[in-house]
Amino acid sequence: MVQVGLTGGIGSGKSAVADLLAGHGAVIIDADLLAREAVLPGTDALARIVERFGPEVLTAEGELNRPALGEIVFADPRALADLEAITHPAIRKLATAREAEAGPDAVVVHVIPLLVEADQQGRFDTVVVVDVPEEVQEARVRARDGWTLEHVRARMAAQATRAERLAVADHVIDNSGDHDELVTRVARLWDALLSKSNQDHP
Ligand code: ATP
Repeated sequence: MVQVGLTGGIGSGKSAVADLLAGHGAVIIDADLLAREAVLPGTDALARIVERFGPEVLTAEGELNRPALGEIVFADPRALADLEAITHPAIRKLATAREAEAGPDAVVVHVIPLLVEADQQGRFDTVVVVDVPEEVQEARVRARDGWTLEHVRARMAAQATRAERLAVADHVIDNSGDHDELVTRVARLWDALLSKSNQDHP
């Protein structure tokens, strides 16, 4: 099994790259999706969140009200630490189960937006960074989410810099071109990941 960490700034194209890698046969473990799954109604993690933060963090349908919880933890580092002490082990458990299902020959790609910020690069055999110039990031996020330029820039300023991400990359996927270029680059990346897999486990 090759464990790949895939990261990049907001709107750089992590999902686009992950979708293409899935098409080649990679098993994708997406940190954002697992974070949602970990707190679905009926989970132990959601029950503990309600115990800690009160029923006002639930919607009328009994789902986690993310904006309401976000308001609480944004302003209070202790509350954030309490939340993470509940969610992180639940997310890790889901990720471990997915890896076990993937089988011994799999190329497992973990999509982790804040990989560099959380200093997680050491957990992976290979780190892939999706890279675009800041202007491209700004334009794509604005087109996708309808955000103002200020909003996009504030989010980018809260993330690692382009240089910090590139410094930990084993592979860089330049996604400044069009979709066809990305398809070609990801196909090349896939070949490199397979040959790494063969080298490590001949
Ligand atoms: P986030 O960090 O917000 O989760 P992301 O890194 O997963 O984002 P994507 O959602 O894959 O990024 O891409 C951001 C936006 O840019 C999407 O609307 C996507 O369709 C578009 N996009 C991605 N790659 C390209 C490309 N090569 N050419 C044009 N548009 C692209």
